[in-house]
Amino acid sequence: GRNGFSFYNDSMNQDIQRKLTLNVRLHQAISLDDIEIYYQPILDLASRKIIGAEALMRWTDSELGVVSPDEFIPLAEKNGLIHKLGDIVLQRACSQAASWQSITPLKMAINFSSVQFRYSEQLQARIVEVLAQTGLPADKLDMEVTESLLIDQESGLMTMLAYLKQLGIEMSIDDFGTGYSALSYLQKFSFSKLKIDRAFINKMASSKSDKALVTAILAMAKSLEMKVVAEGIEDEQQAQFLQSHGCEFGQGYLFSRPVTAEAFTQLLMEQESL
Ligand code: C2E
Ligand code: CA
Ligand code: CA
Ligand code: CA
Repeated sequence: GRNGFSFYNDSMNQDIQRKLTLNVRLHQAISLDDIEIYYQPILDLASRKIIGAEALMRWTDSELGVVSPDEFIPLAEKNGLIHKLGDIVLQRACSQAASWQSITPLKMAINFSSVQFRYSEQLQARIVEVLAQTGLPADKLDMEVTESLLIDQESGLMTMLAYLKQLGIEMSIDDFGTGYSALSYLQKFSFSKLKIDRAFINKMASSKSDKALVTAILAMAKSLEMKVVAEGIEDEQQAQFLQSHGCEFGQGYLFSRPVTAEAFTQLLMEQESL
């Protein structure tokens, strides 16, 4: 009825209002250089040493407070700001990783939105340029993309992925298990590593089927000689289980939350002084 319609309209309006505000504030945040990058350690589960970092965007707005990347990234994908944001994280994380090489030879994992690949030639050129400018060796860059990239694949995509791989860049499939692709299919597309989404790691203790799924992914990855990172490891049992089932790398609050570059440097120094 009439009331139902206006109720729907109100919540819809609120939603639109929030998006409009975020749009304006995000533009501003970019021009005021308010976007920060945090880094979360990726560990070798056997030695418990930090072998990599994942760069994660952080935005705290003066009025709205902390806005989660789960909210502003999808928005940026719609309004086109993702290209600018993606460039900020690429530039800064590569530069940071280059300076960390003097402490330890770690890999920098950077998230790339499928939308960024719509201008694949520019993206490819920019990656090559940033590596040259920052001096980060190509084999220290790990590009995390999701399976959605492969859905409406353009003809140039496979060529581009092969090119990046041939430079030495590692290509990883992020959020594995939430998408659609078969492992064997991903391997054809130059992916050498996959990250099991934290939703599965999270539910392993309570759900037999999730535990079975994780075990099956690990077994398949092994037979295809793909590396695996488990994300969202929060307790020791998860770490032990994953390691004993052949998962080489892990990331999660058990080891560290995402932290500032300064705090991450501290973690590396402590590790190297052991
Ligand atoms: P993601 O790529 O799956 O990143 C992992 C998310 O899990 C991060 O959330 C991280 O903080 C969180 N996480 C890691 N370990 C744990 C844990 O043990 N427990 C829990 N509860 N969470 C854990 P975050 O930083 O909020 O990022 C959310 C998503 O936003 C990312 O998911 C990614 O899809 C996107 N994102 C973040 N930064 C960027 C970026 O620079 N570019 C793009 N394109 N996307 C980004
Ligand atoms: Ca990721
Ligand atoms: Ca994930
Ligand atoms: Ca993701």
